[in-house]
Amino acid sequence: MTPNRIQVLDPWVAERIAAGEVIERPASVVKELVENSLDAGATEVTVLLEGGGKQLIEVLDNGHGIAPDDLSLSMRRHATSKIQKLEDLEKLHTLGFRGEALASIAAVSELSLLSRARDLSEAYEINSQGELSAKTFGHFLGSPFGTRIQVRGLFSQIPARLKFLKAQAAEVSQVREWLERLALANPKVGFRLLSDRRPILTLRPQEESERVRAVLSDGGDYPMISATSDLGFRERLPGSLHVRIHWLQGMSLPHSRKLAQTVNGRAVRDRVLQQAFLGPFRQALLPGQFPALALFVEIDPSQLDVNVHPTKTEIRFLESRRVFQEIQALAESLIEKKGAPAWVPGPSWQASEKPFGTFQIPSSQPSFDLPPVSRSVDPAPLSQNSQTEPPPTHFLESARFVGTLFKTYLVFDAGQEMVLLDQHAAHERIRYEKLKRSVFRSELSPSQALLLPEAVHFGPELKPVLLERLKWLEKLGFEVEIFSEISVLFRGIPVEWGQDLLRVRLKNLVDRVLAESEDTATGTLSPDLKMDEALFERLASEACHSAIRAGDTLDRTEALELVRMLFQCEHPWNCPHGRPTTARLPIGRFEEWFHRRI
Ligand code: ADP
Ligand code: MG
Repeated sequence: MTPNRIQVLDPWVAERIAAGEVIERPASVVKELVENSLDAGATEVTVLLEGGGKQLIEVLDNGHGIAPDDLSLSMRRHATSKIQKLEDLEKLHTLGFRGEALASIAAVSELSLLSRARDLSEAYEINSQGELSAKTFGHFLGSPFGTRIQVRGLFSQIPARLKFLKAQAAEVSQVREWLERLALANPKVGFRLLSDRRPILTLRPQEESERVRAVLSDGGDYPMISATSDLGFRERLPGSLHVRIHWLQGMSLPHSRKLAQTVNGRAVRDRVLQQAFLGPFRQALLPGQFPALALFVEIDPSQLDVNVHPTKTEIRFLESRRVFQEIQALAESLIEKKGAPAWVPGPSWQASEKPFGTFQIPSSQPSFDLPPVSRSVDPAPLSQNSQTEPPPTHFLESARFVGTLFKTYLVFDAGQEMVLLDQHAAHERIRYEKLKRSVFRSELSPSQALLLPEAVHFGPELKPVLLERLKWLEKLGFEVEIFSEISVLFRGIPVEWGQDLLRVRLKNLVDRVLAESEDTATGTLSPDLKMDEALFERLASEACHSAIRAGDTLDRTEALELVRMLFQCEHPWNCPHGRPTTARLPIGRFEEWFHRRI
């Protein structure tokens, strides 16, 4: 095959390829435009969407505006008012600096800019073709000056990009999430988002902690716990670092979308930062659950590189280790000082899904007091059965119940080994499989009425998605109805669900039902959708909070009944979240410790 000859790309093609780095979807347009409004000193920003942003994205602000001469330049690539020379990056105080956003947006849409600069009496408008005209325009969000940017037909010329856009509700959600992140970083600024004229988000100017609550909380009245550290930031010492964390205690979610990071006023997503503050929470929350938390870092700009990626959401610290340690220590102090939520479930390691014969006890488990058992335990004969007795129905059938250890572990003498059973994990497994059986064997699960109905909030743009999916929940045994534009009301729950931590679990459940829309490219599901196993797993893992908790002491009859029910399960060795239910200590280990053969 003869290779093609090298040729310089047509500028039209090159321009659109470059634009793709900055503008991926409506949310990236909104992010760039709102960042410009913030750089212009706006105190009010309004975003309007039509058709999820595909038809129209409009951003209005009351910032200082753009002078008519600058209007035509503003859409040129590498044209910026924010830096002049490379060294300016060292003391950057604006969100923008690459001069790429407007040029990129103009390359993939019909863009029009209307602006009145602070010292001028007239507004001017420019379109994608560069045509400039004077306008008489009344006001921008109550201010005589400001800017209005309209983006129409995003990606209409680029079908390859258009087809990657998700359903309208999912795109609006992403816009809302970006706006919320920018809003956290700028609490003094008021924000509004409307989608097809319906209000989606309204945030008035607030103090930082109020803004954190307004954005992160789901309406619940969670206590907010904050911690601050200051390494010479107030004194403006070189290399100074200032960190604040606000944590909504007691709110936990099955996703990481309520983890907000702000560095020097810039909403970022940084893995190192996330690891630093999440580490201390691992012990406090169930595996797979995340806290609701906002991190604010202020650092000497010369210690920070924000020019890592065209979208500027990635950053690099000169001394990342120091920043990491400072944040980790602060997050630790937050948990230690105030105590973790009362339902601390224990270590967050993942156990093997393997059945009994090859069950593995993880070696790096931090709070497991017993010495490590051999990694692979053969299924030993469980007791000396005489020939005539019927075979046992499960492996603890003929084991002797010794008692309860630490109010949590049931201890059994199984002849050739000691078996420990985590009563909490065991009950979770039993409950989960019972729920599963009731869903798959009979059509509807029986539900149990709630004395006080529970309301759960969701983003208003997601109402149509939720409406379509309520039947999944009904099938699981929930009695649920749409209550308002932003809430559903649970009147009944499946009998197997239990009342434990109901609020958090119902909220998680709704999140999971909605999250599904983001997995599918189109976001639409066939109306006669069948409950499949994978879907069930996703929804029902919230069942994993049992009435029997670590700390409840079971009597002998209750303990034996728990064991009997556990071993009727299809997968008795792990709870639905993957934690082991059972640990075994063979007699050989005792013989090693005490130097004797029994
Ligand atoms: P950058 O933000 O990196 O400078 P942009 O392409 O986003 O690049 O914007 C180009 C220029 O247009 C900015 O430097 C700024 O001077 C001007 N500009 C854009 N949006 C606004 C706005 N909403 N208010 C005032 N000036 C704006
Ligand atoms: Mg910009």
